[in-house]
This record gives sequence, structure tokens and C-alpha cells, in this order.
Amino acid sequence: MTLLTSEMNKELMDPCRLCPRRCGAARLHGETGYCGARAVVKAARAALHYWEEPCISGTRGAGAVFFSHCNLGCIYCQNSRISRGGEGEEITTEHLAEIFCKLQEQGAHCIDLVTAVHYLPPVCKAIEQARLAGLRIPTVYNSGGYESAEILRMAKGYFDMYMPDLKYVTDGLAAALSNAPDYPSVSLAAIDEMLAQTGPAQFDGDGIMRRGVLIRHLVLPGHTRESMAVLRLISERWGDDVYVSIMNQYTPVAGAGQREGFGELARQVTKREYGKVVDEAIRLGLTHVYIQEGGTAQESFIPDIDGEGIL
Ligand code: SF4
Repeated sequence: MTLLTSEMNKELMDPCRLCPRRCGAARLHGETGYCGARAVVKAARAALHYWEEPCISGTRGAGAVFFSHCNLGCIYCQNSRISRGGEGEEITTEHLAEIFCKLQEQGAHCIDLVTAVHYLPPVCKAIEQARLAGLRIPTVYNSGGYESAEILRMAKGYFDMYMPDLKYVTDGLAAALSNAPDYPSVSLAAIDEMLAQTGPAQFDGDGIMRRGVLIRHLVLPGHTRESMAVLRLISERWGDDVYVSIMNQYTPVAGAGQREGFGELARQVTKREYGKVVDEAIRLGLTHVYIQEGGTAQESFIPDIDGEGIL
């Protein structure tokens, strides 16, 4: 395990270069950067979560901790109260470690860290503290995919599984929809590093993933070509070394679709669109694929932001 010491903490967060934006905010001196996060961890919810893929949520749920703020800027974000609004409570690393242990006591199959990139050093420290206190379940780094491979290398050993999004392969789309034109190249390098760390997936006797990489792709209305290109890239680059989850749960938020040229973001994905993308996965011969059944574009995927498990 690579120890993210307090010295490294200082070096990585002030000026901040924790994520590919490298915006240089002096976070240990109270500044915030593009993501809006201060140096202290802020989280909005920590609870058993049953809506991840079956190999993650299992029967008892994933112990999901939703961190406040985000380094992306997706105009269709379904958790914008947390990601952009920054709702949540500031907590110490000791408290975060206790939360991990409590989720384990509640029966969680894993600790599911949702969007932790901007708090990586304190989160790693909390994992270390929790492991010393008896945390045995695996840790899942659940991410929007906009990660620095170099920083992930420094965190080697802290995460048993990675669950990154792969949203786009086209720079222009990544710029227009997530304000991250370098997302395609950056996320590919990041996933290479994730897979190098975990190796191919491993499961326990109950079908719960213990190590590995599960890539998620949310199909956007009107953008099936991009989704098919994403799948082709996954197939060519990693094949069945990774698991893939093709999601149809896009839910239009207020204002989605108002940007010129992206009016279709105001509606859900049609069955036909989703079927086309799934057919492409079949055509490519990808076998480690999760798909969603109809009617999943609902608010159950959007967690309550009520401070549960944090306060
Ligand atoms: S984590 Fe936040 S402050 Fe740090 S480089 Fe990324 S956007 Fe900037």
C-alpha cells in the first residue's frame, strides 16, 4: 500500500492537483477550486444502497458514502444538489473511518465511495484507520471517470474495486456536456491504471465482486452513436477483462435540454435507443455486461440527501 502521508496531502492539495483539472487551489489555506471542495471531507449520505449492480449491492446493499462536490460539470447531473450545490456535512477522517466500520456492521458487502477524487488523501487515511479498526469488506472507488492516472498510482492498495464511468469518447461532447474536453484521453489512461491495480475481476461464492473494474456508461437520449463508440473502445482496449454496465436510467433534470443543439436531453432514453446500444454490445461479443430492464429511469437511483449516516 502506498501511504498518502500528511506531507503528500500537503503537496497534492495545496496547490491542488488531485484531479486532471490541476486548478491549483490552495485548499489547505481555505481556497476552493473548480470542484468547490474545501480540504475537509464533506459527505451528504452514508447508508446501505441497493441500486448498484448486483455484484456490488448483492442482497445486503453496498455501504455507499456520497461525497459532496464534483470535479466534472455535467449539465444533466442527477445529483446536482450534492455535486454542484455542495450539500452535506463536513466530517473528520476519524469520523469517516467510524462510518465505514458502521456500514460494515450493518451488513454492507463493500464500502462504496461515490465521487471521492477531490478528497483522496483524507479518504485513504480514513480507510487506513478503518482497516486498523477491523474493516474487512472491500472498498469500491466509484467515480465519474475524470481521474489522474498518476494520482491513482499513489493510491494503489486502498481500493479493491474501481467503478468508473466512461461517458464519452468524443472531446467535443465531453467539453459541451461535462466541461472536460480532455475527458476521453484522461479517463482511458485512468481506467488502464485501475485495471493494472486490480487485475481481472474476482468474485466470492455469492457472486459478489471482490476485485476488478466495472465500467459504467449512461446512455444519453439522442446520443446512441456515442454510446456505441464507447462500447467499441471498451471492446478493443480491455475486452472481457472489465465488466460493463449499460445504463438507461437517464432522468432529465430541470433545465436539461436548454443548451442549443442538446434539446433531446429534456427527455428519457427510448427503448429503441437503449436496445440499439445493447445490440452493439452483443455484436461486439462483450459477455461481461449488465443491462437494465425497462422503467428504470426513476428517482430511486437518486439518493435522498438527508444526512443519513453522517450526522
Ligand atoms: S480536485 Fe478540485 S481543487 Fe483539486 S484540481 Fe481538481 S477541481 Fe481543482
